[in-house]
Amino acid sequence: MKYAENILGTIGNTPLVKVNKLTADVSCLVLAKYETFNPGNSVKDRMALQMIEDAEASGILKPGGTIVEGTSGNTGMGLALAATIKGYKLICVISDKQSKEKVDILKAMGSEVHVCPTDVEPSDPRSYYSTAKRLATEIPNAWYVNQYDNPSNAKAHYESTGPEIWEQTNGKITHFVVGVGTGGTISGVGKFLKEKNPNIKIWGVDTYGSVFKKYHETGIFDEKEIYPYVTEGIGEDILPKNVDFDVIDGFTKVTDKDAAVYTQRLAKEEAMFLGNSAGAAIKGVLQLKEHFTKEDIVVVLFHDHGSRYVGKMFNDDWMREKGFLD
Ligand code: PMP
Repeated sequence: MKYAENILGTIGNTPLVKVNKLTADVSCLVLAKYETFNPGNSVKDRMALQMIEDAEASGILKPGGTIVEGTSGNTGMGLALAATIKGYKLICVISDKQSKEKVDILKAMGSEVHVCPTDVEPSDPRSYYSTAKRLATEIPNAWYVNQYDNPSNAKAHYESTGPEIWEQTNGKITHFVVGVGTGGTISGVGKFLKEKNPNIKIWGVDTYGSVFKKYHETGIFDEKEIYPYVTEGIGEDILPKNVDFDVIDGFTKVTDKDAAVYTQRLAKEEAMFLGNSAGAAIKGVLQLKEHFTKEDIVVVLFHDHGSRYVGKMFNDDWMREKGFLD
């Protein structure tokens, strides 16, 4: 018999799937690392488990403890899986721009959820960063995960996602393209791939309203780059420690409209029902097509599932309201 001891044993080993119609204009093969096959329907299951196991090993997370995290939903889901199996209480602090589905899913998985305003400075006591930190100090036997600065986040991708992509492409990958939020995915995968072959190019997909691209190009943290945007899961108004700018060759920015439209197109044209950052990522690949030659093999990573966006990018009333439908 072949079975996993519990649901955590099904994390990782996700498939690589060719993108066909949407990349018809791209000269080379484009393969999607399809992370919705994880049990929590996102790539974040990998790092959530790694962060918890490393915290257990170092003794900061003790039996019966409370895990506190500021999360846009997917990390919360990954943490919820591990917390349930391992017997921890979980509190997720989320910003109010995140979809209602994400909040409902976290609650369904047994997490307590606190919703905080998006349009305040990260240092504001009402922000989700500050609220998560405060709760972790107030609650006894609590541990603040801090996925932005926690090195176990990138480590998970260095140890699992990166090696899987290398093996699945028989070491032939030439470019990796991925949306950047905490930076864990791009930095862990990027470091692993560059160690295997320094010629592999690592491209980040950023949003308008986020600091990454400008910072990578100039070394300047420019507050003028920061303004509210719609795309979920990628872009930041801070520089997380998990973004290793040294392994990143460049960033391309995708508009909110393009990210939303391409999320719909992935579903309608490729039968890939995915989250908003997948739309941004595939549009990023199209924007970068001049950098690819015929023999190249591009891997784009799709972070999460479409079910979390049915009230948004998959709802034409919402799309119209935002001005995203022509
Ligand atoms: N897409 C989605 C949907 C996400 O939830 C995240 C995590 N914030 C990302 C992309 C970015 O991944 P990372 O944090 O590893 O940079």
